Amino acid sequence: MMMNDKQSPQLDPVFPCRECQAGLMHRDYIAYFTWLGDELITVPDFPAWVCDICGRCEYDENALTRLTLLLSPNAGKTTSTTRVKTAKTRAKPKVQRTTQPE
Ligand SMILES: [Zn+2]
Repeated sequence: MMMNDKQSPQLDPVFPCRECQAGLMHRDYIAYFTWLGDELITVPDFPAWVCDICGRCEYDENALTRLTLLLSPNAGKTTSTTRVKTAKTRAKPKVQRTTQPE
């Protein structure tokens, strides 16, 4: 997944922890697991907020919403299953293999 959004150089906001009320919730990336039907979805670097004192973590709400949209099979699609019939030729996935030395 390429995420090359323009990142504005702003300081990470912090929030007081609701759990211990002494620590601060910092932006962090932790593993996120969710079940999609029978499949376990793992997101290794999921945006979250982690308390520096008690270690409480909350997943980022915006990221959660985006992930839900991603995982939802009908997200961003019109329900036009009729088009599938005519598409007999199997479209090859365009995978560009760049053999550039890195
Ligand atoms: Zn805390």
